Amino acid sequence: MQLSEIMYKQAIQRLQDYRHMYDYEKRLSTFSDWPFTENCNCTPENMAKTGFIHRPSENEPDVVCCFFCLTELEGWEPDDNPWTEHSKRSSTCGFLNLSGSVNDLTVEAFLRLEADRIKCFYADDRVFSTLVLYSVDEARKATTKRLLEYFSNQHHCSIDLESEL
Ligand SMILES: [Zn+2]
Repeated sequence: MQLSEIMYKQAIQRLQDYRHMYDYEKRLSTFSDWPFTENCNCTPENMAKTGFIHRPSENEPDVVCCFFCLTELEGWEPDDNPWTEHSKRSSTCGFLNLSGSVNDLTVEAFLRLEADRIKCFYADDRVFSTLVLYSVDEARKATTKRLLEYFSNQHHCSIDLESEL
């Protein structure tokens, strides 16, 4: 498997995994190993409320990521306010700007929100977006070719396919 293919699969996996993170409890459960738990602003509860999930790595133990806009932040201090930090970095985040709970949205509003989330993902992941554009373009070419072949068979004429694609 090529590297780009692996990265594409990982990207798709992340897109699907994060879809479940609309659920506050699921976001909260990612903070089981979070250093700031009491007498501070950036408690797991406050982090999860603002859309963050904990994605620690060996070198960066306090990295969090907004499941929606994919903004990543690290270097937290106990007094940091997660909502303020999130909004400083990503003021247009669709999740941050929800006026109420996700559970109160109509199906239509939720679908619109989910489309916005996918757009964020698309903008963030270059491998993913390049491969999607490539496959859309391949599909378009194949359809054009099929139509032209059908047309030329129907009308018993020949068309220079390469120049039409
Ligand atoms: Zn966000």
